[in-house]
Amino acid sequence: MSRKLKQGFATRAIHVGQEPDPGTGAVVPPVYQTTTFAQEDPGIHRGFIYSRAQNPTRTSLEQNLASLEGGRYGIAFASGMAALSALVMHFGAGDHFVVGENIYGGTYRVLTRVFNRFNIKCSWVDSRSVDNIAAAITSTTRAVIIETPSNPMMTLSDIEGTARLARDRDLLCVVDNTFMSPYCQRPLELGAHVAFHSVTKYLAGHSDVLMGVLITSEDDLAEDLYFVQKSVGAVPSPFDCWLASRSLKTLAVRIEQHSRNALTLARFLDEHSEIKRVYYPGLPTHPGHELAARQQSTPDGHPVFGGMISLETGSLERARMFIKNLAVFTLAESLGGVESLVEHPAIMTHADVPREKREALGLTDGLVRLSVGIEDLADLQDDLAAGLAALA
Ligand SMILES: *Cc1c(COP(=O)(O)O)cnc(C)c1O
Repeated sequence: MSRKLKQGFATRAIHVGQEPDPGTGAVVPPVYQTTTFAQEDPGIHRGFIYSRAQNPTRTSLEQNLASLEGGRYGIAFASGMAALSALVMHFGAGDHFVVGENIYGGTYRVLTRVFNRFNIKCSWVDSRSVDNIAAAITSTTRAVIIETPSNPMMTLSDIEGTARLARDRDLLCVVDNTFMSPYCQRPLELGAHVAFHSVTKYLAGHSDVLMGVLITSEDDLAEDLYFVQKSVGAVPSPFDCWLASRSLKTLAVRIEQHSRNALTLARFLDEHSEIKRVYYPGLPTHPGHELAARQQSTPDGHPVFGGMISLETGSLERARMFIKNLAVFTLAESLGGVESLVEHPAIMTHADVPREKREALGLTDGLVRLSVGIEDLADLQDDLAAGLAALA
């Protein structure tokens, strides 16, 4: 085990939890598409009883994800929102969270319109400043939840500073690491207690699996999260776990290509006169660039900025025109797949965020978000050029 932990990221992505099947020697572990497990005598079993509680294909995946994030425990769920909801269920009525205001729209929705029913309270703060987070902490605060870079404004929050504050005040620090993946950013190494992912995005990476995961090294927290997982039951199917394990094996090469393509396209867009503003932490003009260069790095230590870009076209009409003239970028919600996607946050992913709040964040009707895929860079650049030509 200790030798495994020292292995590199790409090696662990391929091998942890993916040992050849002891029964047959199959190099790829089989998908255990079963709901139940035979017992020798009542109560005498091999650690697997019923697949809501445990399934070997899920366990393999959870071990792999925990290893990549540098955590001891991975707890997988049927979607990112199911994972976040399980985390909220660790808490109870009257508990309060301090949450970064520029966060995934679904996270905002479930906290303000579902968990509010159970008297879970939230304060929404601009988490770019750790002082803002500190100022919102009350005697009932139990956790701080941030997302960095944020969706879709690509603002940066300081994970190390936030985690230090949370530890000083005896709170949990939770980081939504979906946009980065553990190849680009490892919140637990920076002091956070929980890294949270929509596995649906970069980790599964092919736009064909919906899944979420919580990763932590805290023993008591993990024990309770496994308890919530089996009790509430929002678990991923064995086949989806198998697909996600297969995808993780190429995570390192995929993210390198997403990031290379995105950096070049961000520079191209930034220099183009039809675009008012480009939000990409890899650009030196981005206000969070220095923090990004420090906090976002590959496991071998070079800065990396991921595949997500937002851009300001100036108006709803211009955003529509730009999108309409793209052919390689597909208009769709979601992100992190091998194929390039484009979306309009105000109408699509962030429609549930009230207009005043959207505008305060800079999330205008002219904002367009790109998830840059791993296609040929020249084809992607030609495609964006065609969209921009329509704006001239
Ligand atoms: C998609 C997403 C989620 C929610 O995950 P699902 O798998 O869609 O439930 C949470 N956070 C971020 C940043 C996301 O992009």
